Amino acid sequence: MEIRINHLTKTFPGNPKKNIPDTTAVNDFNIVVPDGTLLGLLGPSGCGKSTTLYMISGLKQPTEGEIWFGDEDVTHLAPEKRGIGLVFQNYALYPHMTVYDNVKFPLTNLNVKRTKKAQKTIDALTILDLLEHNLDEIVKMEQESVYNNKISKSAFARKMVFRFHIVTSLANTIFSYGLSRVEGDEREAKLSEAKAKLNAAIAAEKEALEKKGFSINDKYEVLDANGAVIEENRKLTKDEIDALVQETARLVQIDQYLERKPSELSGGQQQRVAIARALVKKPRVLLLDEPLSNLDARLRLQTREEIRRIQRETGITTVFVTHDQEEAMSISDKIVVMKQGIKMQEDAPQEVYRNPNSLFVAKFLGNPPINVFKGSIKKGTLYIGEEKICKNKAFKEDKDVYVGIRPEGFLCDEHTKEEDKVLSLDVQAIQTMGRDMSLVCDSACKDGDALIKIIIDSEIKVGVGVNKFAIRPTKMFVFDGKSEERIYLED
Ligand code: ATP
Repeated sequence: MEIRINHLTKTFPGNPKKNIPDTTAVNDFNIVVPDGTLLGLLGPSGCGKSTTLYMISGLKQPTEGEIWFGDEDVTHLAPEKRGIGLVFQNYALYPHMTVYDNVKFPLTNLNVKRTKKAQKTIDALTILDLLEHNLDEIVKMEQESVYNNKISKSAFARKMVFRFHIVTSLANTIFSYGLSRVEGDEREAKLSEAKAKLNAAIAAEKEALEKKGFSINDKYEVLDANGAVIEENRKLTKDEIDALVQETARLVQIDQYLERKPSELSGGQQQRVAIARALVKKPRVLLLDEPLSNLDARLRLQTREEIRRIQRETGITTVFVTHDQEEAMSISDKIVVMKQGIKMQEDAPQEVYRNPNSLFVAKFLGNPPINVFKGSIKKGTLYIGEEKICKNKAFKEDKDVYVGIRPEGFLCDEHTKEEDKVLSLDVQAIQTMGRDMSLVCDSACKDGDALIKIIIDSEIKVGVGVNKFAIRPTKMFVFDGKSEERIYLED
């Protein structure tokens, strides 16, 4: 489902009596999230990311603008009618409910349009197939677990559900035959009896439908007298709910924790339960608000991979809000960088990193961050301090500029020509980190207090003290000293 946002604006009214001005949290915001992709909404605290997400969800109403899901204008639709799944940073699970009940919760009282199915036939055929092909395994599972009293009947059912991807009530039916309690001919007799019952149930359903002039097609859908599928608007049955909970639990890999309470799970597992709860209704759109920020570093990495996998497997259009650039870069098909309610740049993560359009975006992406120098343009030449860096046709007027150079943008190896080494830096510390080496340098022209960080090949010979460096043209960006917008160099 494509999401399209046109001229979205949200202004929170201030309070003139208390001298609190209006706050425009989101300002004329436009984006398109293509169907099946993951968009990372990235920006510093207070830039309007959450407000944008809440407007997409319907929890907040825009002051102006439109939100479209596919060809449906949802701008004024209530949240529950939008078909969204929401995940917050603080999971918000119900502590007194089991994981199973937490995931199930959104499905209770849900009215859905369904095609009428010959469910008794489907269930009977499923069991017949299991008895035909997996009888030994079923008997063994039943014997080992229940009759050795190792696990409860419901835990056994769960095991069957897990192994054969069936609903709990079918597992209970199979258990009720008690096939593991008898052997040899006795078991054969019990089995025949069970099969006869199942076949009778299939025949009975067919007969009952035929009496009404209905029939069943090869997908086990019920057809009316005209051969058309019958659709009905109704609540989900217990089995349908069970199947959806089990399917979603498997997808997010929490199927082994369904009996536990949230307090018996790790943070990462709890967050997966929250994701399952958001997905169980098969929403059109998944909205995630800083879903990883309560997790420790290791779990954050793992859960982020999980979210990516789940998103790819389901193909669900997703908007992911974060202030962590690394997180957004690693997970997103496209990122949007926001500042004070305004979209600064939008593109594939690597493209935004390679080609930032402003000093703000350049500084926001990259770890270690970009190095920023105060520079100037004089008569078509770029200077950092007194050092001439390069000439370019784009340097039309004399002005102050910022020069951003990525940590990997410096060269000082023996193949670099001396005349290309244009920038002097005072190397203060050298740390070798395997293949790479990190140089910490000072410069009188650096912008702000942060020292310059350079990453180069650890084979390169460089010593502490003043060294001269060449600059890789693709790793250097020049920004206007006032507007902080990029001055694009010409070939
Ligand atoms: P964070 O990463 O800290 O969650 P954010 O980018 O999600 O930040 P928002 O929560 O969208 O930012 O807030 C954007 C701006 O709107 C902020 O300046 C905030 O103070 C303001 N704001 C948010 N909600 C309200 C409100 N109900 N009333 C007034 N101002 C609000």
